[in-house]
Amino acid sequence: MFACITGLKCCGGFINLGKLYIQMKIASRFLLPFLILTGYNAFAQRKTTNMQYAVSMENAAAHLYHVELTNTTPGNTLDLKMCAWTPGYYQILDFAGAVQDFTVTDKDGAALKWNKPSKNVWHVYKTKPGAVKVSYNVKAVVPFVGNVYLDETRGYITPGGLFMYLDQELRNPVTIQMMPYSKWNNLVATGLDTIPGKYHTFKADDFDVLYDSPFLMGQLEVLPPFTVQNKPHNFIGYQLPAFDRQAFMDDLKKIVETGSAIIGEIPYTHYTFLSIGAGGGGIEHLNSTSLSFSGGEGFNSPEARKKLYNFIAHEYFHHYNVKRIRPIELGPFDYSKENHTNMLWVSEGFTVYYEYLITRRAGLMTAEDMFGDFQANMQNYENKPGHLYQSATQASYDTWGDGPNGRVNDEFNKTISYYDKGPVLGLMLDFNIRHATQNKKSLDDVMRLLYYKYYKQLKRGFTEQEFRNECEKMAGTPMPELFEYASTVKPPDYPKYFAYGGLNVDTATTVVSNAWAGLNLRMQRDTLRITAVEYQSPAWNINLRGRYSILSVDGAPATLTTFNKIMEGKKEGDSIKLGLLKAGVKQDVTITLAKKREKSFKISPITAPDALQAAIYKSWVGK
Ligand SMILES: [Zn+2]
Repeated sequence: MFACITGLKCCGGFINLGKLYIQMKIASRFLLPFLILTGYNAFAQRKTTNMQYAVSMENAAAHLYHVELTNTTPGNTLDLKMCAWTPGYYQILDFAGAVQDFTVTDKDGAALKWNKPSKNVWHVYKTKPGAVKVSYNVKAVVPFVGNVYLDETRGYITPGGLFMYLDQELRNPVTIQMMPYSKWNNLVATGLDTIPGKYHTFKADDFDVLYDSPFLMGQLEVLPPFTVQNKPHNFIGYQLPAFDRQAFMDDLKKIVETGSAIIGEIPYTHYTFLSIGAGGGGIEHLNSTSLSFSGGEGFNSPEARKKLYNFIAHEYFHHYNVKRIRPIELGPFDYSKENHTNMLWVSEGFTVYYEYLITRRAGLMTAEDMFGDFQANMQNYENKPGHLYQSATQASYDTWGDGPNGRVNDEFNKTISYYDKGPVLGLMLDFNIRHATQNKKSLDDVMRLLYYKYYKQLKRGFTEQEFRNECEKMAGTPMPELFEYASTVKPPDYPKYFAYGGLNVDTATTVVSNAWAGLNLRMQRDTLRITAVEYQSPAWNINLRGRYSILSVDGAPATLTTFNKIMEGKKEGDSIKLGLLKAGVKQDVTITLAKKREKSFKISPITAPDALQAAIYKSWVGK
């Protein structure tokens, strides 16, 4: 995830996208246009399903979804499985741990035996042919875009967290009947098709489609929709704060118009932004995205608004990059374990690159704002030690570890984020292609080619080698140095590549602090605590690690104000004495302070560009 939680998959089966289904007992004026929509009806032409789910939620106060599965898969045994992860969020999750009250009966209602050979698997012994009924509850207490949540005001379902699967049914159709909590207005928002004439009943051509289609229900608000290329776009949210709805949707329309113009074709029939409430992160889907949306805060300052638009542009552009333009490893998925790829620096990193370009080209931020975004990415990457250890391809592959993007504790010092290095690699690749082709081709052309060739024609993802080949073919020249920057820790020659696009980047090292200890501190209640020790800082070099409480600073009772005041009077070579406490043990340490040096990576247009630089800059930065 990111500000985004990213993700995901897609294959030929995904072409038959569902349309947004909204049904209300009380029609709102905004909803009327959708009530007459009918989904693409490929499902009815295919074989009937062996997997029919019904979901109820009358125990919303206890955060319990009730799931009933009617299963007609042949065989003497069934191995029902809960997903170990959900596409878009590359972490192992404990969905199985939320399952309660599992029971299974035969067609006559007699209980069947079952056991659990492993954490995620329910092994059922059938005694006679015919349908079985599986019943279970799911405790839904995590209000997060990659999980399931339920209370008396809303229900949000990441389908991988609710619906068990059978290996032999993964590529077969499935139906879901959704019965919203009776106190709600009966609205169900999802990207799945409906089955006409059946109450809140949805269909998916296979489990990849189902697991890509979240559900949002409850006390929701529908913002005024818009169309782009005659495709309806909706924004449906829970507890949306006060802001100008129409102005926001007008801006959102600009984001969709600008983002879709990069590829040219809009592949879905309908798109919905599902705003699940305050929080962090978003997950992309083929014709929807789930967002944690704190709109009120997002509109209170230009900087916050720009961040919000970047975030939304990111999740939106993912419906191309990662959902359809994708590495071959990212679909069809194995839901039982990690699905590794070396290419999240493209799938995520280039999506960050395009979020900036989309927001800029849509007129929602200035060129200087965009330069600041790239600058922040370069500082995050270059001024931390992980860039000495881990390449962008390794970071992509290793993202499945514990913690955010697989990084915990001191691993932050040995790892990088592809959300930082990826967009800068995207910029350098784009500028290289533009430079090599006299600005006749760009990264946009590569993305279009990948979309049409691999997604539409070949109906598959691309390998690393194919991606590189297509980039180099578009540029008309090999680009070994750039791809080495992705697969190794070789220091990038930023000035050379930025200059192709008429930009300066300041790589001079400057002193940013004359007295540096390397401690990140925070007051928690009345205690000053060390939250992190910077790598190879003076504090690091005396083997300070982990979370200490600071009791005293140069003999004075420790507060953040005291610490900062004392540090203000110090310079390189001076020392500071700290009284520390960890796990009940007191310890005094003395840290000899040093100067802290960093590069600013400030970006600015070249003052006297040549004709090609000027042309590239102008076509890249937008009006
Ligand atoms: Zn993302």
